[in-house]
Amino acid sequence: MTERKRRKRKGKVRKDRLPMPKQTPQERVRNFDEVALGFTPELAMEEAKRCLDCKKPKCRDGCPVEVDIPGFVREIAEGRFEESIRVLKLYNALPAVCGRVCPQEEQCEKLCILGKKMDPVAIGRLERFAADHEAALGEARLPEIAPPTGKKVAIVGSGPAGITVASDLAVKGHQVVIYEALHDPGGVLVYGIPEFRLPKRIVQREVDYVSSLGVEVRCDYIVGRTRTISSLLEEFDAVFVGAGAGLPWFLNIPGENLNGVYSANEYLTRVNLMKGYRFPDHDTPIKRPRKVAVIGGGNVAMDSARTALRLGADESHIVYRRSRPELPAREEEVENAEEEGVIFDFLTLPVRMVGDERGWLTGMDCLRMELGEPDASGRRRPVPIEGSDFFMECDAVVVSIGNSPNPLIPQTTPDIETGRWGNIVAEDATGKTSMEGVWAGGDVVTGAATVINAMGAGRKAARSMHAWLSGEEPFFPEGD
Ligand code: FAD
Repeated sequence: MTERKRRKRKGKVRKDRLPMPKQTPQERVRNFDEVALGFTPELAMEEAKRCLDCKKPKCRDGCPVEVDIPGFVREIAEGRFEESIRVLKLYNALPAVCGRVCPQEEQCEKLCILGKKMDPVAIGRLERFAADHEAALGEARLPEIAPPTGKKVAIVGSGPAGITVASDLAVKGHQVVIYEALHDPGGVLVYGIPEFRLPKRIVQREVDYVSSLGVEVRCDYIVGRTRTISSLLEEFDAVFVGAGAGLPWFLNIPGENLNGVYSANEYLTRVNLMKGYRFPDHDTPIKRPRKVAVIGGGNVAMDSARTALRLGADESHIVYRRSRPELPAREEEVENAEEEGVIFDFLTLPVRMVGDERGWLTGMDCLRMELGEPDASGRRRPVPIEGSDFFMECDAVVVSIGNSPNPLIPQTTPDIETGRWGNIVAEDATGKTSMEGVWAGGDVVTGAATVINAMGAGRKAARSMHAWLSGEEPFFPEGD
């Protein structure tokens, strides 16, 4: 009987999960270093020992890439850290990323059986520990790679969807080339999610791992401009489109083109990818406002508001039209934002941006809202309160209300079916599109979602692509 089983039998499982050491809020708002510091080996083993090693574990059902969670946690509990990362990497090419940014509270940890009576096992923190432990040792262990199949696959976009397809197909012996529009690979992981939440060296390490499997990454290459999908199909046997959802939405209210109004995409790209926070050592400038209003309530909004504080803003506000329980951001990131001093203006809707005679933003006209009946999303619909208008002074606004896929690929690929929001239509179970030889997955199909969902879609597509490339499955089922 394992020590954990003995503890379980004696009812000696720790109730609370172990907290992860973090920089203090006062310290961290003055730097861009990672907020969370990670478990030590001792803390990781202690936390892993809380896992009940259930006969019928539920946690795995909550993971879109079906990681063997009990398996890798068991290895950590027994102190076999290298073995734990081996188990993880059988399912997930990006464990250091997922351990940091996955919404575990809505997925694996939500289904953890321990969570019915006490805190669920801190699965995300343990995943991060295992990946960081391997990184600290230096060399990553490579999986066995199948002999070359002679088949060539092109992947559009180097975000989590593209990286997952690339690594899964490279291991099967296919020759893979990733085409990336930006000058650095990683997708949103490098241009969107800030350094203090996901250090760039971590993404680079994961990209290096995929390269070490033999995948070629070509940056500064815009598919749809430099070369179309149809032209790629002349050279490659199959194409996967994982081009993400990089087209920001705006509120479409008067004054949105004033100086000082940014989309979250532009704001975060300037800071993260272009290193605007180190201007003038780096070329890209970024406005350093006194009072910033970030409109929206998701992870992107939290990242923008926290970035503004680190750039020296006196006040950084989240302006959200619903209330706290409806915030779509991860709870941990909302708490981090609160600790750092971000001010939350709930039930508030901007209706007009106001500027001075030189075209610079000076504030917003807003309305107060109340919550009405639930809408299609199941959340209560915000309704304006009559006569509640007020002026909110601010010298920068970051609009963070969502994104849709960039229209370039659909516009230059007439044979590919697209949906209402400009998304590429792909089969849920396989990622197949309406065009023979072309698969798609991640945000370009679903609209802005999560890293792990993009990876899950990549995994399914890779499975289907491999079956097709190996001649085991037709692209279109007979009769179509
Ligand atoms: P992306 O990551 O967007 O990658 C697509 C890549 O394709 C990009 O590099 C793009 O440059 C490239 N590309 C686009 N068009 C072309 C073209 N024509 N030719 C060549 N290349 C092209 N998710 C979470 O799970 N947890 C979080 O905490 C979280 N925080 C987030 C914070 C921010 C600021 C943002 C913006 C998103 C966040 N997300 C989070 C969402 C998550 O990052 C995305 O859902 C995920 O990255 C989608 O992966 P993807 O591979 O589909 O696309």
